[in-house]
Amino acid sequence: MAGRIPQHFIDELLNRTDVVDLIDGFVPLKKAGANYKACCPFHGEKTPSFTVSPTKQFYHCFGCGVNGTAISFLMEYDHMEFREAVETLASSAGMEVPQESQSFTPKNTQSQGIDLYQLMQQVEGFYQTQLRQHATKDEAVAYLKKRGLSGDVAKRFGLGFSPEGWSHLMDSLGDTAPAQKALLDTGMLTKNEKGRVYDRFRNRIMFPIHDHRGRVVGFGGRVLEQAEPQPGNPKYLNSPETPIFHKGSELYGLYAARGAIKEAEGVLVVEGYMDVVALAQEGINNAVATLGTATTAMHLQRLFRHTPNITFSFDGDRAGRAAAWKALETSLPAMQDGHQVSFLFLPDGEDPDTMVKKVGKEGFEKLVQEAMPMPEFLLESLKQQADINRLDGRAKLGKLAKPLLEKMQTGVLKTLLVERVASLTQVASSELVAQPAKVPATNDSESQPWTNDWGQNKGGQGRWKKGKWNKRQVEQAPRPASLTPVRRAVSLLLQFPKFHAEYSMLAPISDTQVRGIEMVHELRAVAESVDKATTATLLERYRGESFASTLLKLANHHHNNIEELSEDEALTLIRANNAKIIDEFNQVELARAEQALENLTRKANLGGLSEQELERQQALKEYVRNCYSS
Ligand SMILES: [Zn+2]
Repeated sequence: MAGRIPQHFIDELLNRTDVVDLIDGFVPLKKAGANYKACCPFHGEKTPSFTVSPTKQFYHCFGCGVNGTAISFLMEYDHMEFREAVETLASSAGMEVPQESQSFTPKNTQSQGIDLYQLMQQVEGFYQTQLRQHATKDEAVAYLKKRGLSGDVAKRFGLGFSPEGWSHLMDSLGDTAPAQKALLDTGMLTKNEKGRVYDRFRNRIMFPIHDHRGRVVGFGGRVLEQAEPQPGNPKYLNSPETPIFHKGSELYGLYAARGAIKEAEGVLVVEGYMDVVALAQEGINNAVATLGTATTAMHLQRLFRHTPNITFSFDGDRAGRAAAWKALETSLPAMQDGHQVSFLFLPDGEDPDTMVKKVGKEGFEKLVQEAMPMPEFLLESLKQQADINRLDGRAKLGKLAKPLLEKMQTGVLKTLLVERVASLTQVASSELVAQPAKVPATNDSESQPWTNDWGQNKGGQGRWKKGKWNKRQVEQAPRPASLTPVRRAVSLLLQFPKFHAEYSMLAPISDTQVRGIEMVHELRAVAESVDKATTATLLERYRGESFASTLLKLANHHHNNIEELSEDEALTLIRANNAKIIDEFNQVELARAEQALENLTRKANLGGLSEQELERQQALKEYVRNCYSS
């Protein structure tokens, strides 16, 4: 969480970090005017539209819209968590993340002074050695060959072998008490009720599981063929939850598949690691697998960071359909506009492993391309439960759809789905979702006043009072929007924080007078308090807030070719805009004064005014007269 690391530390960190240097280390940048450019690392393109601004300490792609700070870049490009990104930047800036905030990391990746990640690397090496050298390795090698796996693919996935026996690993790596304890903590050893410690994985092909940084955090083990299935010895066995391994967030094969996912512009989620490896054997490298759990929201979040297109592969049988439905329910809240989720149902008795062997790479890719889109799967499944040829059937469908639609994030996708369900059930859309769709934040036009409440509504969803979805916008690319003066002030403040003092003249104005002005006050205060604040410093304050994406857009809004503006020109723009806000404020005050005056006059006619009221009436009259004469 953003709040856990002291803000002043983040400010200082961004101060000492140069986003141009940082990104240049990953993607070579070329100077272009005041900025730097490159072909976007987040979407495929031939002409560079990825721009990095040294003054704003901010990057932006005009092609795909990604943008952010140095911290965001590491999170997006290198798939780091927030804290990790901060720690990485801190270590290259020669800073140490403050101690007190570290107590918030419950993760203890050390045991008995042994680094668990390093230990797991040793374990991986041990199993790989067994596959090459152990006396019984032939059985394992024969199994892999039988499954059609080449030595090359086995190597690429780091496959290993845990021989039959209770203590191969323990004898090799757990020969001291601390080492044994550390191996127990990683789940590689286990202990029975009598306290006997032994190897968890025995007589299995070992699949190392990597986290998003490529570190081995756990293993999956596929038992070698047995004559009879043995109780207590499942076909697939995974590492248990440990301080470094969380099944609910890790996906098998994701680290290795990153490049292929980008290239294929999509990811395929299968059920087992054998499927991932078998697909890779046939040249399909963009598959990942969950680790014996259903797909979680965390999985989806991870995957959507890599690609907007997720295809789930399931068996076509009833269990497969039920699992698919669960995945759909988990996907709905995670999906944003631009995301696509599809479902590939394989014929009965087939899994990706057997299927790809039958139809080959191209055949399988075709199946993936023809997978059922989420909306279709959703509607088809609902229609199976309710007969839409009957009035009560349509009512039932509406009732089933409602909680699902309510889970979805506001946006075009939701709107379109609501409309589809509405037309199927012949029920008004407003009956299906509690609230009308909000205006997407891109439509910052003057005709749609900015009504989310910056100051008081932090953490909650922004509210749009008159928000009405303009359907025409669905087909059109977002137009460069014109901004209300307050939004423009926020935008200019974000882009030129050094001129924060210009906004102090707005200080007497409150949110009740000019809506949204509190955000200007807040940003001004932040810019004032931080030494050399940049766009990035200001934006990092609001990471995780519901309106953060609006701020990002405003930080990027182009005011008359803002990149080319001299500081003097920027100042002129800021002052002209502030004058507009003061105008707006004056108009509001004038209207209020006139209203108050009218009330007093009415009261005077009814029975006279107190002395105090008379004074007030006089003052108001003067104020109004002044307003009109100036
Ligand atoms: Zn891009």
